Amino acid sequence: MVDLKGQYQHIKEQVDTSISEVIESTTFINGPAVHNFQKELEEYLGVKHVIPCANGTDALQIAMMGLGLKPGDEVITTDFTFAATVEVIALLQLTPVLVDVDPVNFNIDVAAIKKAITPRTKAIVPVHLFGLAANMDDIMELAKAHDLYVIEDNAQGIGADYASKDGSKKKCGAIGHVASTSFFPSKNLGCYGDGGAIFTNDDDLAHTIRGIVNHGMYKRYHHDVVGVNSRLDSIQAAVLRAKLPLLNQYNTTRRNTARKYTQAFAGIENIITPSGSCAGQTSICDRCDCHVFHQYTLRILNSDRDGLVQHLNDNNIPCGVYYPIPLHNQKAYQDFRYNEADFTVTNQLVKEVISLPMHTELDDEQINFITKTIIDFLRK
Ligand SMILES: *Cc1c(COP(=O)(O)O)cnc(C)c1O
Repeated sequence: MVDLKGQYQHIKEQVDTSISEVIESTTFINGPAVHNFQKELEEYLGVKHVIPCANGTDALQIAMMGLGLKPGDEVITTDFTFAATVEVIALLQLTPVLVDVDPVNFNIDVAAIKKAITPRTKAIVPVHLFGLAANMDDIMELAKAHDLYVIEDNAQGIGADYASKDGSKKKCGAIGHVASTSFFPSKNLGCYGDGGAIFTNDDDLAHTIRGIVNHGMYKRYHHDVVGVNSRLDSIQAAVLRAKLPLLNQYNTTRRNTARKYTQAFAGIENIITPSGSCAGQTSICDRCDCHVFHQYTLRILNSDRDGLVQHLNDNNIPCGVYYPIPLHNQKAYQDFRYNEADFTVTNQLVKEVISLPMHTELDDEQINFITKTIIDFLRK
């Protein structure tokens, strides 16, 4: 699905130099590499504060702790995402409220959020799934009307632009009250281990969060709040510093690959190619980074999706089903209050979706082989 080795070969010199500097300096924890990466990412995203931490799951949890959410508070999020999103809500003894998604962009359905709001609702967690921004204009408007926090789970959308109705453009993760991301190796900006970060434009919240990631300490050995130990280590920051300048280029390469996939599947009636862009266009935008294609995900209609997975495996083509089970049907998150009828879209998508290899090193020959193998199977 990803070719980290091929990518490393292209950036070996920068990465090796950057890592060596950390080892030479022996500032393994909170060294200059972490601080410099933080500043560089703040600038890239156009946010006031980036707080690096140990991984994307911690980042979400710490964001929620920073907002002071309390047991019993309801947090609305999408039924169609990686489990980490709902896991941290449950772990903090908040009440997860899962809602359905939009069938076109796979992101949280704003009408469903609206229906799920109660007097106990405190926050909404949109996920920019597969690298395409959720409908942030409407989510922010709804949040404002009901006095709710918006926590963007930007683990899959780093570098993506969001074009607002008013014509302005912001990076995903710079829109809500706070956002989280992951630098897991296979993410669009991945390090060589675990890593994550929290973003916010709110000075007070940033201060609170900086203490939480460091055992609730604001002054050495004074623990004002219950915190955690969640750090990005310096070696990972060094890798990220080498890769951040290439992120836009990486995302452009992914978008070009997506465009080639989509072109190859034109006219194949069992396939719905992913909606690619801002302003509700169905084609892939060529003006901005509004979809960074963390995943390129097809819907396979009226055909044998699982047979296709098998066929691709048989031809040594990696593929993934993200996600095979809606969160509301996962054992850990089942809830008697859920009504299957409220999840018609996710229940359908889990049967239809398939994600194709997507990374920065795919060449035309590989793309042609992948698309031809899929089309041959569907025509049979
Ligand atoms: C990867 C991911 C996470 C978790 O990130 P980790 O760094 O693996 O903890 C959270 N949410 C989403 C949507 C993700 O894709």
